[in-house]
Amino acid sequence: MHKIDMRDEESLLAHNRELAEEINKKLKERGIRSIDVMGAIGSGKTTILEKLSERLKGSYRIGALAGDLTTTIDADRIARHGAKTFQISTGKECHLDAHFISHAVDEVADEIDLLFIENVGNLICPADFPLGADQRMVVISVTEGPYMVKKHPYIFAEADVAVINKRDLAEAMEVSVEDLEADIKEISPDTRVVRMCARAGEGIDELIKALGL
Ligand code: MG
Ligand code: ZN
Repeated sequence: MHKIDMRDEESLLAHNRELAEEINKKLKERGIRSIDVMGAIGSGKTTILEKLSERLKGSYRIGALAGDLTTTIDADRIARHGAKTFQISTGKECHLDAHFISHAVDEVADEIDLLFIENVGNLICPADFPLGADQRMVVISVTEGPYMVKKHPYIFAEADVAVINKRDLAEAMEVSVEDLEADIKEISPDTRVVRMCARAGEGIDELIKALGL
């Protein structure tokens, strides 16, 4: 996938962007709002989607696509909160691309009006592969250390909303939530930042507001 030839790489990315635009148009025509959720393994993406599904299931008919190399753990967890879920097995691929979504979206698109896409746990290549979602959200946690933002500028530049999760562990990890937020704002002043402890449900209301849901 990650080729050396720059022309191949450019045409691949251009093709992905075109397909993403088609997906977004199709979702909009069906009245479906869509959010791409990115972040490293263990940052809390699935927990956040569980909490959002639980909180929003009275207001929206929710669907979720979960990208994972081989397991259905995330899709199964989200399904328990009333969302219609579909697992996308990416095999050895370390990110979702628009091609995966164009095939999977029909599996959940009937009778939903809100779609979450949980990307493969990775902060690097998902930045280059928009999936046709209305909004992109990135999740980091303080347990990943103080340099997660500085080391992954592209994904934060892409993000409409950034979550700093596990803030209750910040002191133990000797990581400053304020510094992480300042790093995000330096890269991308328009990105809305939400501080959370998702497991305890803290920050869910602020996240719902930031996403305009
Ligand atoms: Mg997950
Ligand atoms: Zn990748």
